[in-house]
Amino acid sequence: MAYRAGRHFLQIPGPSPVPDRISRAIDAAVIDHRGPDFADLGKSVLSGMQRIFKTKSPVVIYPSSGTGAWEACLANVLTAGDQVVFYETGQFATLWKQMADRLGIETEFLAGDWRHGVDANRIEERLRQDTAHAIKAVCCVHHETSCGITSDIASVRQAIDATGHPALLLVDSISGLGSVDYEHDGWGADVTVSGSQKGLMMPPGLGFNALSERAIEVAKRGGSKRSYWDWEEMLVSNATGYFPYTPATTLLYGLKEAIAMLEEEGLDNVFARHLRLAEACRQAVAAWGLEIVCQNPAEHSNVLTGIMMPDGHDADAVRRMILERFDMSLGTGLGKLKGRAFRIGHLGDFNELTLMGTLSGVEMGLGLAGVPHKAGGVEAAMQVLMR
Ligand SMILES: *Cc1c(COP(=O)(O)O)cnc(C)c1O
Repeated sequence: MAYRAGRHFLQIPGPSPVPDRISRAIDAAVIDHRGPDFADLGKSVLSGMQRIFKTKSPVVIYPSSGTGAWEACLANVLTAGDQVVFYETGQFATLWKQMADRLGIETEFLAGDWRHGVDANRIEERLRQDTAHAIKAVCCVHHETSCGITSDIASVRQAIDATGHPALLLVDSISGLGSVDYEHDGWGADVTVSGSQKGLMMPPGLGFNALSERAIEVAKRGGSKRSYWDWEEMLVSNATGYFPYTPATTLLYGLKEAIAMLEEEGLDNVFARHLRLAEACRQAVAAWGLEIVCQNPAEHSNVLTGIMMPDGHDADAVRRMILERFDMSLGTGLGKLKGRAFRIGHLGDFNELTLMGTLSGVEMGLGLAGVPHKAGGVEAAMQVLMR
């Protein structure tokens, strides 16, 4: 492949670009994970992740993708034959449910249209019908990456509590954590699943489970047969800063730096930056006269913007054109949205001018690909940023 000058624009909604500070932190010697120095690193990232998840309960760190952390969550608190309700927000909710199906869990899907977030009233209604309390858990995706939709997780907890139903609340915030507010304890999640390569600005390779006391209790008494994913052994080792098996040491160096960066900026400022840049991106889409996938403004994503293609135009052809001409990767349409939508990632290590470069590439690509749109999206975003 010929050399391409300048930085590649990796504007997919995860993996997000890794800042140099994190890359440099990762580029360090591997140490003895049973030696005296390791405990400081272990304790630092474990307590740091509690602050990021906003929890006083333990966070478990796996050398895994987000998908592995999904399985860890299910395996620790559920077993084959258990009844579980999933809410269809998009492709990631679908994939998590399919995983549960494969594990023999009796899943039920509350159908959604991929353009709206979780409707807590429907969860409340379903739980009220379950007077025998057969449903063991409710599973929701906090930020649905396939569509760009943020769901109100606190409202789901309120719905569960309003019915007095004992179901656990299991949440995927793989792409929300570190970019938009997430409160594991405050919103009453029992397990929150996350991963390293989205809002945490890390390379792929770490998966997380934030736990609750109740989830730990349920796991002690039940769950599936499991070994690698088992929380119990992890928690015993983690108490002194160690891991039961070889951790991804160099990624933990990176994670320590990522936590430091998020805290130097301040989590609230990180979220405000994501909101501001997302708002500018949405103004650009409005000026182009194109449609955002998410139809409820209250649920618009500050992590990415999903854009519907006018009929007869292939989103992947536009993405290909933009990659070839401007060396920028945009997110493909997933599942039902394949070819019908593309996604602009605006998360992680991202600022005003990265947004402007990104939007310029998209506007030029729309023109070159012959997609009907109005000019002026880039200008509209600049107006927002100059406020
Ligand atoms: C990225 C993502 C996943 C999958 O994570 P992997 O690391 O690819 O296994 C799951 N859920 C959501 C919401 C995601 O954004």
